[in-house]
Amino acid sequence: MSADGQGNASKEVKTESVSLHPLGTAAAPEPELLCILGTGDLGRSLGLRLLQSGYRVVYGSRRPHSCGPLPQGAQAKGHEEAAQSAAVVFICIHREHYDFLEKLAPQLRNKVLVDVSNNLKKNLYPEANAEYLQRLVPGAHVVKAFNTLSAWALQNGPSDANRQVYLCGNSDEGKQAVAEVATKLGFTVLDRGSLSAARELEDFPLQLFPEWRLPLRVAVGLTASFFFYVLIREVVYTYIDQGKDMSFRIMVSLANRVFPIVSLIMLSLCYVPGVIAALLQLYRGTKYRRFPDWLDRWMLCRKQLGLVALGFAFLHVIYTLIIPIRYYVRFRLSASTISQIKENRTSVFDTTMAWRADSYYSMGVLGFGLFLLLGITSLPSVSNALSWREFSFVQSKLGYLTVFFCTFHTYLYGWDKFLQSYAYKWHTPPAYLLSLVVPSVLIVLKLLLLLPCVDRSLTRIRQGWERRDPEDASARALLT
Ligand code: NAP
Repeated sequence: MSADGQGNASKEVKTESVSLHPLGTAAAPEPELLCILGTGDLGRSLGLRLLQSGYRVVYGSRRPHSCGPLPQGAQAKGHEEAAQSAAVVFICIHREHYDFLEKLAPQLRNKVLVDVSNNLKKNLYPEANAEYLQRLVPGAHVVKAFNTLSAWALQNGPSDANRQVYLCGNSDEGKQAVAEVATKLGFTVLDRGSLSAARELEDFPLQLFPEWRLPLRVAVGLTASFFFYVLIREVVYTYIDQGKDMSFRIMVSLANRVFPIVSLIMLSLCYVPGVIAALLQLYRGTKYRRFPDWLDRWMLCRKQLGLVALGFAFLHVIYTLIIPIRYYVRFRLSASTISQIKENRTSVFDTTMAWRADSYYSMGVLGFGLFLLLGITSLPSVSNALSWREFSFVQSKLGYLTVFFCTFHTYLYGWDKFLQSYAYKWHTPPAYLLSLVVPSVLIVLKLLLLLPCVDRSLTRIRQGWERRDPEDASARALLT
């Protein structure tokens, strides 16, 4: 069939085709036109998503005819013409170049201006970028939005981890218009209030693991301190006292001394603030007084403390599993077997030692298993599926059980070594003994809090009961 023939056939089909609109209704309205000023990375990603979501897009550019490849279907115009053609204008330009917008004020009057900008540093400017934009174009409705999403995230569309669009602005109309666009793009909108919240939104992308900072500092501090402590006791001391070079122990033995110590202390530190809070409430006789700031901060990073502790526990498990394949261990084992054969000597089976070793490993395995459970239930996808009671059962009751198993594991590791004078090299206690201080104190305090009389008072306080100050009560009696 000729090309001509094909053309005629398609024409025929067209004339006979039936309109999909119900009879009597008008054709679908033209999609809304949105303007994007700036054809950079964010502008292009945003434009692509807007087009894919059914909007029409016009770009405003300094060089509309040579601004590089734009998403298919978008038009490019000069700033003025583009700004005039749409009611919502996205400013995808760095704040440093905003001054030209002052000249566009007449075209931008009564328009919704979406400020997507971020800064390189906090407090770089005296006012937030969005407030600055509002000052430059006072007749527009400035809305801060989309700045917490990267160009990459916008291009890929909303995913579980990147679903939220924070916005703020002084005009409800403006926020409503932007919220509609964001919702149509598949995002969840979180309104943070007036434009004065813009600085807070601009600081969001500059945050660098804020909740992890304290736990990581604690981890680094503990690791460094204990590493130097065991280095001095086990390498420097042995070299000076016996002239033996044991520096090879740094890589595995010393590391595997430090990791469980840091893990145990950090796990206990997750539960210490809860105990301090309970003691404070008992002392004050009320739950309605604020905790000190340091305690609040400590409580807020318990999850991160626990996860870092779990990481160290993992390292301890892996380092322990490689012990049998170490050259040093295999050498010592074969040397002792050969010397036993040479001397025709056999060692007697020690049931107590067998019990001790098995209990030590068993406590370690149980503690690590529960520790893993704590880590898994702290994941938002898992914790969201649990009721508050289930979550607190795992994190609190099983959490204390984990501390108990891990502490007992460490006591079994030490066994009676702390009674021997050789353990106190240069009069310093072994590192494992030091690591037991925090968890042991924690367990004792927790047991005290579980005493029925103490637990009853604490439960009443947590249900809202307040202890009356005797002076307060007598003053009130005098007044009445
Ligand atoms: P970009 O790639 O550098 O693009 C900026 C655009 O601004 C340029 O393509 C240019 O478009 C225009 N421009 C540059 N100098 C100008 C001037 N003197 N006067 C007027 N227009 C000028 O930057 P971007 O990464 O798209 O970022 C744009 C804005 O989005 C910034 O405020 C940034 O903080 C914010 N943001 C970016 C991301 C991201 O992932 N990239 C994420 C969140 C927020 P024309 O050549 O077409 O005029």
